[in-house]
This record gives sequence, C-alpha cells and structure tokens, in this order.
Amino acid sequence: MKKHNFSAGPSILAREVIEKTAQAVLEINGSGLSILEISHRSKDFQAVMDEAVALFKELLAIPEGYSVLFLGGGASMQFCMVPFNFFEKKAAYLNTGVWANKAMKEAKGFGETVEVASSKDRNYNYIPKNFVIPADADYFHITTNNTIYGTEILTDMDSPVPLIADMSSDIFSRPMDVSKYALIYGGAQKNLAPAGLAFVVVKDELLGKVSRYIPTMLNYKTHIAEGSMFNTPPVLPIYSAMETLRWLKANGGLVEMEKKNIAKAELLYNAIDNSKMFVGTAVKEDRSRMNICFVMKPEFQELEADFQKFAQAAGMDGIKGHRSVGGFRASIYNAMPIESVQALVTCMQEFEKLHA
Ligand SMILES: *Cc1c(COP(=O)(O)O)cnc(C)c1O
Repeated sequence: MKKHNFSAGPSILAREVIEKTAQAVLEINGSGLSILEISHRSKDFQAVMDEAVALFKELLAIPEGYSVLFLGGGASMQFCMVPFNFFEKKAAYLNTGVWANKAMKEAKGFGETVEVASSKDRNYNYIPKNFVIPADADYFHITTNNTIYGTEILTDMDSPVPLIADMSSDIFSRPMDVSKYALIYGGAQKNLAPAGLAFVVVKDELLGKVSRYIPTMLNYKTHIAEGSMFNTPPVLPIYSAMETLRWLKANGGLVEMEKKNIAKAELLYNAIDNSKMFVGTAVKEDRSRMNICFVMKPEFQELEADFQKFAQAAGMDGIKGHRSVGGFRASIYNAMPIESVQALVTCMQEFEKLHA
C-alpha cells in the first residue's frame, strides 16, 4: 500500500533525492567507489560541496557578503554556537516554544538574556505581536516555524539589532529576504536532507566581534576559512542536500514551492475548518504551512485513538501529534505532494462520515 509520510522529522524527501543518494552510495560519478568511502577532500566530493553551496545561495538569492556552511551537530549545536559568536553583553529571544526555549537556555549561560515576548500562556498556539526588541541587545533570536505547535512567522521582520533565525522546519519553503538576517540556521532533516547535518547562512562582517575565546570548532570563522571542511563534514547528508537543491531548482525554485505549499496548507486547513469533528490548534493568522496541528473536538475526544488507527490503516504515517500538544500533526514539507494531502483529507472525511 502507498504510504503517505507526514513525519515531523526526519521527514519526507523527494523520491528522486533518495534514489540519487542510493546511487551515489553504490558508486559516485562512475569512479568505481562509493561516496561513503572516498575522501572528503577528493575532487568528486569537493564538487558536491561546491554545488550544494552554490545552489543554496542561488535558490535563496543570498546577497554578497554571506557564507553558507554545512556542519555537524544539528540545529541544537547552533543553540550554543550562536551565543559563542554573537553574545557580548546581552541577547534577546522570542519565546515561541520548546526549540526557542532550548536556544534561549544556552544564551542564559553567557549572561543577560531577555525574553522579549512569549506565547507560553496559550501553549504556544500563536506568535506574539507588537513586542519591542531592545536596541542594545547583541542580537535577536527567533524560531520562524514552530514545528511542534504549527505556528509560523512568514514575514522577514525588521530588527534594530542583528536578527538570527532558527529555520529548521521552513527553510526553502518560500522566497525570502536574506538581507534582513545576520544568521539563519537549521537542522537539515526537516526540509532538506537526512539527519546529521546543520546548515548556516551567516553575514561575514558581523563575526569576530566578541571578546571571549571561542573554541575552534564552535567558531564560524574556522568553518568559513576551511569551506566547511575544518574536520570531516557529514558527507552523505551533504550529498542528499545537493540533490534536494537540484530538485528544487528543477521544479521552479522557491516561487513555485511557495505556491504549492500554500495550496497544500489551504487544502488541509479548509478541511479542518469545515469539519464537525476536527479543530485546528494554532490561531488562524499564525498557522504554519509546514506542520498542521489539529485535535478532535471535545465531544469526539474518545475517538482519537480510533482515528489514529483508521488513518494508519489508510497509509497515513506519522500523524500523531507531539506529546506537548496532543491530537494530530501533519507535516507537509516541500517534498510532500498535494495528492498525499488530499488522501489525508479524504481519510478524515470518511472517518467523520462513519462517526459524526
Ligand atoms: C527539529 C528542530 C530542532 C532540533 O534539531 P536537531 O537537528 O535535532 O538539533 C531545532 N529547531 C527546530 C525549529 C526544529 O524543528
């Protein structure tokens, strides 16, 4: 039976990306060798790194003066690399959920850390508005897509201080204005590549300003100077990232991707809003296009486990909500075709017909 992969992360990749990666594992460029067993400094792998960086810059229209890095350690490593490289006296954070909190915790270890605003009062089901970013902060940190709660910041905001964004789960989902950001980072395993890789886009001129010693491995300058090869990088995820970037380009780039993401999200949100049984958890104006969270209305609550089984039997994989929200979460990243979203909608409607 066809499986529809709604997993939050690691998550769906384009079939083509998986097939090309599998080929490279068997043999890269007719060399008689697997990508798993060649030097990261070989010309075959250097070409992969160069193309991945070039496509990353091209697709996001990254201006001059920024570097793109591929590093190990996932997004969580960035939670501490950011303060190591930017924290001098004071940092500001927007608290929009678990990941934002984990990032903020690391900054607190460096000194005064201001929580500019928080949506904790309603279990992070909205994005705080009308907050004031302290003009004397070294940087302001946001999480653009809150994977667990299904809320998303869809505008590239103005900030009086360097803006730093965790874009783990919405990178490449829309065209964006990179010039508004000092640094963008994320784990690759939501919308780009298999796990084991973090991407970083950083504005070069903002580095080198903190007075504290920065451990070599945690210094962005080290990785810029070495072209992400200070140590052995995660070669296989970088290969897959390159294939995803090729796939994005071949499919119309981010303008086309955004259109598709809007259409997919509307299809599912409309079904939820028109349902007697299901209800969305995030406030409408802040709804994520990537992670769509919904629960059973109170009068149908006891059917939750039944729907989970019903959906599973229909091939819907990974729709169980995060434990801190409950209910269901459909992650519909770039690689998810609208047909799979339609299949989930049909499944929800059939279940509702049987029970409501
Ligand atoms: C998944 C996720 C993370 C954690 O990523 P790791 O690579 O596992 O460290 C951080 N931030 C956001 C927004 C995420 O969705």
